[in-house]
This record gives sequence, structure tokens and C-alpha cells, in this order.
Amino acid sequence: MEKKEKTEDQKNKDLMEKVVSLCKRRGFIFPGSEVYGGLAGTWDFGHFGVALKNNIKQSWWKKFVDSRKDMYGIDAAILMNSEVWVASGHVDGFQDPLVECKKCHHRFRADQIDLSKCPDCGGQLGETQQFNMMFGTYAGATQESGSKVYLRPETAQGIFVNFKNTVDAFHPKLPFGIAQIGKAFRNEIAPRDFIFRSREFEQMEIEYFIREEDWEKYFEYWKGEMFDWIEEVGIDMRKVHDTDIPKEDLAHYSKRTVDFEFDYPFGRKELFGLAYRTDFDLKNHKLDYLDEEKGDLPTGKAGKTVPHVIEPSLGVDRAVLAILLSAYSEDEKDGEIRSFLKLKPSIAPVICAVSPLLKNKPELVEYANTKVFAPLKAEFGRVIWDDNGNIGKRYRRQDEIGTPFCIVVDFDTLTDDTVTIRDRDTGKQERIQVSNLKEYIKEKI
Ligand code: ATP
Repeated sequence: MEKKEKTEDQKNKDLMEKVVSLCKRRGFIFPGSEVYGGLAGTWDFGHFGVALKNNIKQSWWKKFVDSRKDMYGIDAAILMNSEVWVASGHVDGFQDPLVECKKCHHRFRADQIDLSKCPDCGGQLGETQQFNMMFGTYAGATQESGSKVYLRPETAQGIFVNFKNTVDAFHPKLPFGIAQIGKAFRNEIAPRDFIFRSREFEQMEIEYFIREEDWEKYFEYWKGEMFDWIEEVGIDMRKVHDTDIPKEDLAHYSKRTVDFEFDYPFGRKELFGLAYRTDFDLKNHKLDYLDEEKGDLPTGKAGKTVPHVIEPSLGVDRAVLAILLSAYSEDEKDGEIRSFLKLKPSIAPVICAVSPLLKNKPELVEYANTKVFAPLKAEFGRVIWDDNGNIGKRYRRQDEIGTPFCIVVDFDTLTDDTVTIRDRDTGKQERIQVSNLKEYIKEKI
């Protein structure tokens, strides 16, 4: 029978299904509250998912905070005073257009569908209404309007409201930034596409405070920095596109926004955003700054000013998905399809797995444990012990986790202190001295 070529659509659908199923099977990502039938828009990260996320967040923090002189960290509370969200414009303006089908009562985002009929049942759609996406709750025992609080829909405001605290504590000179990694919550009308659009997710945001006249220069600078980081973590650059948001579609606070889009299997969609937020937020929170270097007052004295802001805003979960999709690979080995994650060693949840060739040979187990596993574990942390099943099965499991190196201790090791180290991508095996292992791996990270 003639083999039919799969359409691009089918291939994309397959890829997404393969990645979602690998994530569940190998302990990266599970549906939230699954044993109770799930909770739409929530995801739980398993052991390797947490490790991957941590490596992504650490890489971001290292590049944008630890290796710079002009960046200050913050970890603000998720629950914030309602007044913050009134001042920021979110109470009035943070909304998406909602439309409901009159027949099946499914709800959709009006800007994402063809409004002529219901995408699910073909029924007639009702009027479009505005729906505020903030999750509200009450602080304390009473449910009065005065105790109303919101779970933050963006980490940015936690930065703005700590602007004065940061300036008073560290006396930074313009330009400088404040960075935060943390959870954000949005009551998305239609959470979908795995972890791409969820109701609880993580953001990595920077507010970079500048003088107004410098905004174009720093906008370009941050665009470059974002591209560098995207490449550093292993997102396929051929699938990343930057696009200027047209004026009429800009968020209420922005004068220019560039979206970094990624070719996800479900379409080209926003990965990250870069926005020039002007002085909108600091002004609304009635915060200012004493610019000692700017003697532009008639007296020649330093003047009070409201700094402007460039905001690189990155979603951790969208990064995880883009990294997984970029890394997912298949090849054929011995007539079998092998799937593996070609993750960068710096980002992979596990840097190497250590195995004794046979788990019922105490001398192999003892050597592997004390002379290979323990010292590597102490050095790199991201090292696992894997003695389950035969070697072929172990390799397949580690390939799917994205482990760049598998080390096997065999009978030769006991006499010559060498081990086999296998490369995930090529499947090639090398014999190397146990005493050289640390250096060998360090070189690859
Ligand atoms: P979209 O248009 O896709 O809803 P947005 O423009 O509202 O996104 P921003 O407000 O710019 O998103 O948020 C900054 C970043 O936070 C996004 O670039 C994305 O990486 C991430 N993000 C936003 N909403 C979600 C979500 N529902 N699930 C996962 N990540 C999100």
C-alpha cells in the first residue's frame, strides 16, 4: 500500500502529542488536580520538570542579575493591596473580550475565533462582553469590599511598588533595573495548548529604569539581550520572530511593544514581550526619583523626575514549552525509532546518569556508587543513579529525559579504572579514565 505523506498540520499535532505524552511519562509535567478530574489551566511540575524550570530560571537570573552591576532582585508578595491594581489600570482595563455560544454555552475569546458561528457546535454566538481576568479573593475572615485582594496578574507591579524601597536601600543611579521571578495568575477565558496558556504561570520580569530621552537606545539594547538569552537556553532561533505590535493593539501602558513569537505546533504565538511602559506605572503610583546627575533645574540642582521604563517580560512556562519543542528529536537506531530531548547540557534536568552494568554484582555496584556516582553527585548535583532494566532501556529512558551523558561501570572498570561514557545525540561511546570524568563533563557544560 502506498504510504501517505503526513500533512504539516498532522505532523504538528503529532509533535505536540508526543511532547505532552513524554512530559507525563517521564515525570516532567502532569495535569493539575488530576486525581479529581483536573482543573483547567493548571499544571503540576514533576521532578524533571522542576529541575528544567529551575535551570531556566537560574540561567536568566545569572545573566540578568548576578552578572550585572545595575540590577537589583525582588521577591514581592503575590497577594497585593487592591489599590495597586486600581492605580495600575488593571481593575478597569485588564480584560479580554468574551463571547458565549447560545446553544452549547461554551465560552471563547472573541478575538481568537471567527464570530460567525460557534467553533464547537456551529451554534449562534451571543454579544461580546468584556471579562476582567484578575483572580480576586478576600484577606481575613470577612468578605467585605474593603478586604478584597487580587492575586497578581503580572509580577511587574510588585517591582513598581518596591521602587522607592529599592532606591532608598541601594541608592542606584539611572539607568538601573529591578528583576523578579514569580507566579502570576490570570483567569484566562480559554486556557489551552498545554502549558502555553494557563491560569497560573511564572514570569521573569525586569523593569529597567531610564531617562526618557534614552528609551529608544535601551529598547534596542534589551531586544538584543533577549535574543541572546533565547539562544543561550536552546530555543530554536529559526522559529523565533520579533514583531512590532501595531499602535492600536498596544496595552494601555505601552508606547512600543515588540513580541517575540515562536512557531509553536499550534501556530506562531507570543513567547515573550518587550515593552516601553513610559513613566505610566511610577506616575500612577505617585513615585519619583532624585536624579542627582541631572542638574537641569534653573537652580542647577538635581531634579526630581519620574524615570521611564523598558520592560523585558518572559514567561517561564512558554520558555519550557519552546525549549522542549526545540529539543524534541527522533532518529532511527537498529530499526527502531528513538526519541530524545536534545537539551543543552546547561539546561538539562540531569547532566549524567551512572549505572553499574549489572545491578546484582556487588563489586560493580560498590565501585559505581562510591567512585563514580558519589563524587559526580557532590560536584554537579544533577546526577542520577539508574540501574533499572538492561542498558538499552536505561539509555532510552535517559535519552527521553535529555540526559547528555550516560556512564556505565563494567568489569573492565574494576581492573583499569575506566568507564564507558555515551553521548546522547550521537550514541557514540568512549572509554575514559574515572579520574577525568569531572573535567570531561565540566568542559561540556
Ligand atoms: P497573550 O497575548 O498570549 O495572552 P500577553 O500579551 O497578555 O499574552 P503579557 O501580558 O505580555 O502577555 O505577559 C508577559 C509574558 O507572560 C508573556 O510573554 C508570556 O510569556 C507570559 N504569559 C502571559 N500569559 C500567560 C499565560 N496565560 N500562560 C502562560 N504564560 C503566560
